[in-house]
Amino acid sequence: MHDTNSGSCLCGAVAWETSGKPASTYHCHCSMCRKAHGAAFGTYASLPAGLFRWRGGTDTIEDYRSSANLTRSFCSRCGSVVPNFEDDGSCAFVPTGCQDDGPPADYHIFFASRASWAGNSDNHLPSHADWPPGIDETPCPDRDSGPAEEGKVRGSCLCGTVEFRINEPFRAVYNCHCRRCRRARSAVFATNGFTSLDGVEITRGESDMVQYKPPEATYFTQVFCRTCGSKIPRKDPGRSVSVVPLGALDEDPGRGPDCHIFTAYRAKWHRIGDTLSRFDEGPE
Ligand SMILES: [Zn+2]
Ligand SMILES: [Zn+2]
Ligand SMILES: [Zn+2]
Repeated sequence: MHDTNSGSCLCGAVAWETSGKPASTYHCHCSMCRKAHGAAFGTYASLPAGLFRWRGGTDTIEDYRSSANLTRSFCSRCGSVVPNFEDDGSCAFVPTGCQDDGPPADYHIFFASRASWAGNSDNHLPSHADWPPGIDETPCPDRDSGPAEEGKVRGSCLCGTVEFRINEPFRAVYNCHCRRCRRARSAVFATNGFTSLDGVEITRGESDMVQYKPPEATYFTQVFCRTCGSKIPRKDPGRSVSVVPLGALDEDPGRGPDCHIFTAYRAKWHRIGDTLSRFDEGPE
């Protein structure tokens, strides 16, 4: 059985390869992973560093220390979350959304922190409120969210440089399984909310937002915080909408996704566990 697996960021600058079986693979629902990925959760394969090899682009990687015991890494060109390591270098944590072939997750962690809109992905797997038993680590701290202002939902990046406010209800919310969203968010799927062009207001840190548009894209653009790599809403004048990665929200938007889109391109190692409509391509 050959089990070499490769992965890369959205722009392709950062690439890597793994061999052998990960020690474990898990969906992390903590609010820090949600922000870093701009998704409902982050999914990581944890494996001995000896089974991991960079294939290029390490000079474009930016690091951000998100808690006392965790440094997260992202591509400074496109914003994708890329593999990071245990402080002593013994263990690699590889985001499976960027991989060509899984592996499938074994369990959910920080399930007590999950977003209200997270749905029932891989709901046949065991879930742990924080770390699985036997792991003695400081929990990923959840960010505090203050009281919501009437009719507005606030969000921010992991380092707090960028803050924004959604001033109107979402017109639509989609779980998007396209390859581009998976690489951009380094997640098994993205959850995006849509407002009118002016429905999103950046209230802080606009000059710290970086944009990356793949050369072949018509509309798709990833926007992220220069310092922490968190995914930030983007204005899309071409379609007169703003697109919000729901993982960036600090407050409950009061609704979840309408459906799954581009499921023809979904991560085959991931099971959609809900009964929402599924569209092979774009929404109707
Ligand atoms: Zn990149
Ligand atoms: Zn986490
Ligand atoms: Zn930030």
